[in-house]
Amino acid sequence: MAKNVLILPGDGIGPEIVAEARKVLERVNQQFSLGLELNEALVGGAAIDATGVPLPDETLAAAKAADAILLGAVGGPKWDTNPDFQIRPEKGLLGIRSQLGLFGNLRPAILYPQLAHASTLKPEVVSGLDILIVRELTGGIYFGQPRGYRTKEGGVREGFNTYVYDENEIRRIGRVAFEAARARNKKLCSVDKANVLEVTVLWREVMNELAAEYPDVELSHMYVDNAAMQLVRAPKQFDVVVTGNMFGDILSDAAAMLTGSIGMLPSASLDANNKGMYEPCHGSAPDIAGQGIANPLATILSAAMMLRYSLNAPEAADAIEAAVSKVLDQPLRTADIMSEGMRRVSTSEMGDAVVAALA
Ligand code: NAD
Repeated sequence: MAKNVLILPGDGIGPEIVAEARKVLERVNQQFSLGLELNEALVGGAAIDATGVPLPDETLAAAKAADAILLGAVGGPKWDTNPDFQIRPEKGLLGIRSQLGLFGNLRPAILYPQLAHASTLKPEVVSGLDILIVRELTGGIYFGQPRGYRTKEGGVREGFNTYVYDENEIRRIGRVAFEAARARNKKLCSVDKANVLEVTVLWREVMNELAAEYPDVELSHMYVDNAAMQLVRAPKQFDVVVTGNMFGDILSDAAAMLTGSIGMLPSASLDANNKGMYEPCHGSAPDIAGQGIANPLATILSAAMMLRYSLNAPEAADAIEAAVSKVLDQPLRTADIMSEGMRRVSTSEMGDAVVAALA
């Protein structure tokens, strides 16, 4: 049966990088007879310009009907000044995440040996780095109620948010992480602040309960402040890290930068049935949009994750990842990963090189 992939190019460099991922998907579709049907829809600023809203009903319906979604990026200065937060491009993205229940965010941080010099850390600390951060995406302090901003008696301003998780939310993200660890090196580190925050005492309890179901996975716990330190001190001690929404937001960006370039990092956001939205970790890069110089590899690697996690095509995923590595063995670099002795290539030349390496 045909599998339906919805492509959402979005704004800024989104359409440029997604076009390259589409080329690669079309190539593996043919090569591995995957039967993928690729369709496109509007989201973000592009949707605001065309329809007045960041997530048109047709786009949401197409997202719900699709087997998987590939997103470029949304946002840009053109829409940043709108005082109505409901008509901001980011609302399109958050709307899809919440409407589709995409609670499991997977962010691999892999350092390709060919780019070891791009990290700010010493090569011996990061070379061979391959870790996976699993972040809870639809709960925690970002969504807890009550929340607000008020002026108290005496004119004192007060802002407040509520950090809340129930055990079901913790258990379902825990399962995603244990399963991922099981498919990798069988080591899972759960990050919390159980010495201070009661909600994360529950987090730790539930992770320990789950561990009984995964005797082949070694579970450890770490406080978030120590985890931040360990990530830059000795990142290779980790295999899979699981944590809540806010800690995950911060730690996954830190882990991303260990690898040197944001243009290389894919991500997946999954629901309970492994349906998901796949996107590069970076934004719409308005500073370089339209110049044909953006690195499309994060989006191409996101397409590989999509094939692996949502479309049950692991061979095609492996082939794309191997093709990217083969391209990096050649002296071809987009501007963000450029170094001495390399030849600078455009966004579409990089996409073409990956397609050629698939042959
Ligand atoms: P950004 O990630 O867009 O850009 C940060 C820097 O990295 C810029 O210098 C940019 O040129 C560079 N960069 C990013 N992707 C690159 C690529 N593929 N190749 C080469 N260089 C690349 O972050 P920002 O500047 O903070 O945000 C710009 C816009 O993107 C904002 O409107 C923001 O809200 C939005 N944003 C969207 C998403 C998303 O759609 N998921 C995520 C983050 C930011």
